[in-house]
Parts: sequence; structure tokens; C-alpha cells
Amino acid sequence: MIKPSVNLSTSLQYMKGVGPQRHQILRRLGLEAVGDVFYFFPRRYENRSQVKTVSDIAFAEEKECVKAQVQSRGMIRRPGNWIFRVVLSDGKKMLFAAWFNQPWLSKAILPHATLIVYGKAEKEGRHAQMIHPEYEVLENDAVSQTVHFGRIVPVYPLTEDLSQKAVRQLAWRVIEEFGIRTTDPLPASLKKRLDLKDSRFAFKNIHFPESFHDLDKARRRLVFDEFFIFELLIQIRRRQWRGRVESLSHRDGESQIKELTESLEFSLTRGQETAIDDIVQDMKKPLPMRRLVQGDVGSGKTVVAAAALLFTASNGFQGALMAPTEVLAQQHYFNLSSLLRPMGISCGYLGQSLEPREKKRVMEALIRGEIQVAIGTHALIQKDVRFKKLGLAVVDEQHKFGVFQRAALKDKGEADAHLLLMTATPIPRTLALTLYGDLDISVMTDRPAGRQPIQTLWVTEEKRMEIYRFMDDLIGQGRQAYVVCPAIEGRDMTSVKGVLSVFESFSRIFSHRQVGVLHGRMKSVEKQKAMRDFKDRKTEILVSTVVIEVGVDVPNATAMIIEDADRFGLAQLHQLRGRVGRGGNESFCFLFSKTDMPESVDRLRAFEAMESGFDIAEKDLALRGAGEIVGARQHGVPELRIADMAKDLEVLELAKAEAERLIEKDAGLRMAEHRALRKILNEKFNLNELKAGVIA
Ligand code: ADP
Ligand code: MG
Repeated sequence: MIKPSVNLSTSLQYMKGVGPQRHQILRRLGLEAVGDVFYFFPRRYENRSQVKTVSDIAFAEEKECVKAQVQSRGMIRRPGNWIFRVVLSDGKKMLFAAWFNQPWLSKAILPHATLIVYGKAEKEGRHAQMIHPEYEVLENDAVSQTVHFGRIVPVYPLTEDLSQKAVRQLAWRVIEEFGIRTTDPLPASLKKRLDLKDSRFAFKNIHFPESFHDLDKARRRLVFDEFFIFELLIQIRRRQWRGRVESLSHRDGESQIKELTESLEFSLTRGQETAIDDIVQDMKKPLPMRRLVQGDVGSGKTVVAAAALLFTASNGFQGALMAPTEVLAQQHYFNLSSLLRPMGISCGYLGQSLEPREKKRVMEALIRGEIQVAIGTHALIQKDVRFKKLGLAVVDEQHKFGVFQRAALKDKGEADAHLLLMTATPIPRTLALTLYGDLDISVMTDRPAGRQPIQTLWVTEEKRMEIYRFMDDLIGQGRQAYVVCPAIEGRDMTSVKGVLSVFESFSRIFSHRQVGVLHGRMKSVEKQKAMRDFKDRKTEILVSTVVIEVGVDVPNATAMIIEDADRFGLAQLHQLRGRVGRGGNESFCFLFSKTDMPESVDRLRAFEAMESGFDIAEKDLALRGAGEIVGARQHGVPELRIADMAKDLEVLELAKAEAERLIEKDAGLRMAEHRALRKILNEKFNLNELKAGVIA
């Protein structure tokens, strides 16, 4: 956010009409200094620009603004109520306004005063009435000069003990008095080229727009500023990397990749081929790679990681892959080592569950460079883990890690390693750009050949037995099934299904089948065994919590039941469902939920209808907003005060391109016309922050 210059840093309590007490209340809204008011943006606007006479009242759906003279007034006493009634007239027709239990109004609204009221008008015989309208007594009949009527009026977020009028008044005063003192940080040439308004116009019109057209212009400018500062920061950080990289460039190894892919029992999808190619090109450059491979669940990201790891090993470097859960890390270890060992690559595993002695052995082998590819969990980023020559760090399901965890793995070597992030949680492009403004992205949109769509159905409780029979048939044909529950233990209060009781009931109902259970409270060895049994088809039904959410790959499992499906968010449902539909057989996902909450119904219906992770991500963004999706703060997304991730993609891309251009021209922001920008960046981001980074 671009702050006006420092003389706006005066405490608000010294503003006329504020004082220490009011200042306390304003603080709750984040209003500390005068300058903060500029960024305290209205929540919405009311169009009160048309001021009508009583005869003009249209009795419309919307509220109307009426100016008239007080003809008579009086307090009426009703059981439990004081009603203050005012009769307004324009000489032809009358408007009755009434307020309940506000006895002080009789002192504020005097006979013959000119009054402006704003409210919803209703018919009262030939005349009109308004209950509890907003009002103002006009001193000199100067409608145009008033802040609250006769214009498009801002409506601000409020807190207790603070009226809309008071905040609006304050905003008006601050902008009138201090607007002139704000400095516009954008170079004039840039504003001209992009047709952006200057910042004084933007602030004035975001609060008190002359027209909705001006409001749009003002908003566009402020959204641009917000993204522009962020993108500048990213560009500057990019430069810093370039300055400090040692050469990690890779040369040979493409023939080994070819050998690997030819050894697979399937041919690569176009998406996989392109992603591998992108990665190889990146790693051949002397700059460290920063690439995100984004591919829907089941799109085959593991093979891409295998190729990248092989490539680094072929070039004499070590590679590491980190996964968010032990179940997944072990699965990766199993799959990757069976792909890479035949190619002569030594692989090692490092996870929390290792015996201390075994752990020590692996760590020593890593330092000596005897293990070429390490696969593991968070254990890989513990302080005492060191590599001899780390060339590539892969973070699978990267959205499960925080910013610093993602960064930590690549810093395990001497030089800045190449970084490959993989995610199955589809990220809308706006978010990807903001979150990962400095990442290159490869998107894998195609699914491996022969995949069948997944039939998704929200079913009612009466259908339960029918679904069970259907599932039993599938199992009879040799398939397997998952049953997912939102919690380990059920809660009576909310009647949420717990995995333990569900396991019990499935064991009973499916007594002729092998039923397994998996949840986070089991010991690591038990978890491994449960997973292995399922993989080996020793168990046919696996009752589980969301521990299976990420990455687990058992292509023979073709049915899933999700209990209390309304307990899960869209993205999570999609992840869960991604556990089926991984082989050549038709797959099914049944949702049980008794919910009738409109938001939940909306979510589940959307989920039933959508299969593409990208569509789901867009819907999710619309339903929840960007911050929620990624847990914004923790993940280093800038706090957006005006820009909207879902709506402002065009401005974001513009800001990104302009930031690149500006830094290309003047990397140190040394030119006079960039001085104001430099100051903002310095104030807003201290150097440490610049280094640790918005993104690893
Ligand atoms: P992701 O991690 O993207 O969710 P995986 O890498 O776990 O997906 O792959 C899912 C399944 O698809 C695995 O069993 C894998 O062997 C298989 N697979 C990967 N690529 C292909 C392909 N091109 N054709 C057929 N099957 C594939
Ligand atoms: Mg995966």
C-alpha cells in the first residue's frame, strides 16, 4: 500500500472533533494516524445524489433522499415507546417521519427547519412515511455542501459506539484537509501511459466519488498501487538472487531421462512432457530454478519429480524430495526408488519414525554424498541434516508447508539449490501470480490416458444400504474402497461421525470383507502397515480420516464414501476424491450429509457437478475469498486492502509487467522519479523481510 508522506503520521486524536476517547474507539478499526483514514476504504456506497421533493417520492425498492420543511412535530407516548413524529411537507404532499425512543430528537429537529431524510418510503394514504430515516438539519439549505446527502455516499465498516455519520465526517475532513499533502509515488509518464488517475483524485473519489465512473477510475488506481508495490518487491528480490548464485547449472542427463521415461509402462502425457522439459531448461541455466508444477490430483506429478531428481543426480548433485506426511513420504520413497535404483541412483529415506541409529546412518550418508536422492518428511529440514552438494529440492504438496519450510530445504546445500514445488491444489491464476509472483509455473491440464470420470453423488441417509450393496458389488469385482470421516472420535453434540465408530460399523456390516482403519493417532508403524495392507489388497475397505487426503495412490481403489461431507471445504473434498479415479476403472464418490445450511448445500452441489480442479478452485475462491484458501498470512500473501483476487487479474498482470519494466530500467530505484517508490518499499519492508522472502 502506498502511504501518503509522513506529515500524515500525526495521531488522529488531534483532529478536530476526535479527542482521546473517540480515538480509542477508532483504534479498534485500525485508525491510528491521520494518514490511515486514506486507506480506510468504504465497504459500499449509497447513491443519494438525487434529492427529491416530497411530491417526487417514487416509493421505489431503494431508499430515497428527500428534502422538505418541518411542518409540525411531536412526541407521542405509547406503552413502552416514545415516538417522535415529524410532518414534512413541500406544500403539496406530506411525508411522515418517525423515530422510536430517541427523545433527544425533539431538541435537534425544530419547527420550520429544513430537513433532509434518507430512507425507504412507504405509502400512507395519499402521503408518504419513513420509519427511522437518516436525517440532517440543513443550516443554510446548502445541499451540495453536505457530506451525507446529495451525493454518492460512502458506507464504512463500523464498531460499537461509533456512528456512520461520525466516520464519514472524519473521512471528509481528513481528505479535504490533508489530501493536498499526499505525494503521488507513481512517475507521471507511467500514469499517462496506463491511463491511471493521480493519487489525490483516487483518494478523493474512493471516499467521496463524484460519479460511479470516477469511483471505478479511483479504485483502479488504488488496486494498481497495491499490486505494483508487491510486484516491485518481488522483482527486487529476484535481482538479489541473481547476485548471489553460484553456478549450479546442469548440463548432461537428458538421455537418462529418456531412458527413465521409456522404462515406464505408460507413455507420458503432454503436460508431463512439457513440465519435464521446462524443468530441464531451467536447471541448465545458471540461475536457481523456481518452478511450480501445478497438476490436478492424479495427473502424474511423481514421474515429473523422478525425472528432475534423476537429472540432478546425473549431473553429480544430490536431490531431495519432501512430502507433508509420513504415509506419503514412504509411498514416494517406495515408488521413486523403484524407478531410480535401476538407473543406478542411490536413494535414502528420512522420516520421524526412523530408529535413531538408522537416522544417523542416513544423515551421514547424506553428508558424504553417498545418497544421491533423499526422500522424506519435515525431518529433512531439521537443523542437523546436511547435504554434500544439493542440486535440487522438490517440495510435494507444497501448499501443506509454510513459507519458511519451503525455503529451508533448498538452503541445505552450499549454494542456492534449484527448487521445484508441486501442488495438486489448483490455484487460480491471480492467486498464483500473487502468491508465487516470482515463480514460473507449469500447468498439467491433461489426465493420463484411459482415466474414467468419477461419478459423484450426494446421497440421502435412506440410500445408505443401497450404496453399501453397490460398493460390495465393486469389491466383489476385485476393486477396493475408501471411507472417509471428518474426525477420529464422534461428537454426540454435533453427531459427527468418528472414524472409530464408523470402522466398527463397517467391520460389522461388511463382516465378509477385510476392513482396515487409518488415522493420525495411530503409531507410525501401524499407519504404514494399514497403508501397505491396503496397497497389497489385504484390506478391501479402508476407513480413514483425512490422512489419506494428500498424494496416496492406490489405483485399484475405485469407490469412496465421504461421511459428513459438509464438514469439508471444496478444495479438501476435491483432494479426497482424487484418491479414486486413478486407474482404468470407473470410479465413484458418494457424499453423505444431512446439512441444510445454504452455504453447505451450495458447496456440495457445486462439488457434485464439477470435476476439474481448476473449476473447483475458482468456485472456492468465489465462496471463501483468497485469504482463506491459502491461509493468507502464514503463507506470505500480501494483505490486500482494496484489490480483489477474484476480480482484478487484469490490473495485477499490468502491475507485474510494469514492475518488471521499471526494475529493468532502474534496479536500485535511484532515479529521481522513483524516489517515492523507494521510500515506500523501504518503509514497508525491512531488509530482513526482503531476504526471507515473500516466497521461498
Ligand atoms: P499426482 O501426484 O499428480 O496426484 P501421481 O504421480 O501419484 O499423481 O500419479 C497417479 C497415478 O497415475 C500413478 O499410479 C502413476 O503411476 C500413474 N500415471 C502417471 N503418469 C501416467 C501416464 N502418463 N499414463 C498413465 N498413468 C500414469
Ligand atoms: Mg502426488
